[in-house]
Amino acid sequence: MAQRKRRRPVRYYSPKRRKVYAEGDKIDALTLFELHAWICCICHEKINRFVRCPDWNAATIDHIIPISKGGTHTWDNVAPAHYRCNMDKADLTCEELNDLTLTG
Ligand SMILES: [Zn+2]
Repeated sequence: MAQRKRRRPVRYYSPKRRKVYAEGDKIDALTLFELHAWICCICHEKINRFVRCPDWNAATIDHIIPISKGGTHTWDNVAPAHYRCNMDKADLTCEELNDLTLTG
């Protein structure tokens, strides 16, 4: 009896984004979060390490300069952020986000 192997669903990235990921560093999420002491780069609050996506408080990797704006997937361009903060920010840079928060 042949058993079907289940494939993991592959996350879809656009070719441009895939290239950036391939050329970038291999970012280990846990190391990154430890490095930043589990502090969100957007709201500067502590991230609970025990919650996972799709929980809004889960830790996610944020690109300081968004990939869509020429940012790289390298250690100096990534920081931990809450899932909710990351989603709010979408592809804005931190400065743009601050401007938005201050003005609106
Ligand atoms: Zn946050």
